Amino acid sequence: MTEQTLSYTIGDSLYLNITDRCTLRCAFCPKFNGSHQVHDYDLALDHRPNLDEIIASIDDPCRYEQVVFCGFGEPTLRLKILLETARYIKSRGGRVRVNTDGLANRVHKRNVLPELSRYIDALSISLNAQNETVYDRHCRPQLKGSYQDVLDFTALAPRYINDVTATAIDGLDGVDIAACEQRCERLGVRFRRRVLNRVG
Ligand code: SF4
Repeated sequence: MTEQTLSYTIGDSLYLNITDRCTLRCAFCPKFNGSHQVHDYDLALDHRPNLDEIIASIDDPCRYEQVVFCGFGEPTLRLKILLETARYIKSRGGRVRVNTDGLANRVHKRNVLPELSRYIDALSISLNAQNETVYDRHCRPQLKGSYQDVLDFTALAPRYINDVTATAIDGLDGVDIAACEQRCERLGVRFRRRVLNRVG
């Protein structure tokens, strides 16, 4: 078994890489373009890390502004491990953010926001587009109707979690950043413009 990068730092944040599985197959994703590299980190996983391995990769949550679940996979696909890890981080006084595709309720077939709200301080949801056509072109969802599911999740999230942001990547063909921002206003969440290939 080779050494895996389960946690990595960027700026003042610690990032956790708990899965490489996704519900989406984003055309812009480095892993679908032959790379698992983020900054100087190789995020390729050769096995699914267990809770002990993930916790062992976190030195001291208080050293960081926040601990962010974000790798080349969707963290809510490992909901139990995500919640147990987040509970550990909170018990050590850390702040937790989850970067998500916003499809957890669709995948788990229930509203998981009450569970997330127990240990998660902030959610960053990848809205990625102002409409379904542009979303489907770039994100290539495996589940039909995913864009509406992301909208529904984003609208519901602030009822459970105070700090909710939705993001879109500037520079992707057809993505209208101003229209994404307007959509977020209607959904009642903050908007953050992201830059292609920059993690955060
Ligand atoms: S959700 Fe993230 S990790 Fe998954 S395919 Fe899209 S960009 Fe890549």
